[in-house]
Amino acid sequence: MTTHYQGSCHCGAIHFSYDGEEITEGLRCNCSICTRKGAMMTPEAISPERFHIEAEEGALGLYQFGAKTARHYFCNRCGIYTFHETARQPGYFRVNLGCVDGIDPFSLDAKLFDGKHLL
Ligand SMILES: [Zn+2]
Repeated sequence: MTTHYQGSCHCGAIHFSYDGEEITEGLRCNCSICTRKGAMMTPEAISPERFHIEAEEGALGLYQFGAKTARHYFCNRCGIYTFHETARQPGYFRVNLGCVDGIDPFSLDAKLFDGKHLL
């Protein structure tokens, strides 16, 4: 059983949607970039076939570093991190729970992924 989720950046230039596992908890990561973002993410890594992105032209920013396996997307207008393609499962997406409609990340428990040592 899957749930439909949709979300956006702050200014609305980037929208996304997917069908996936019900969001009942969050995931945090202590790697160098996730520590700086401070965002809670979906525990599920969402396959690219299920992930749909609608972005205004020029709005989708991409940041990569190190091995450049992961792809960290953000909005070029409002600066918000919306989703990224994971280092652990290249091509699969995790989403910023703060961007998902109807989800209050502060009400969810979070697991911690030790990306600082495992990535
Ligand atoms: Zn934006």
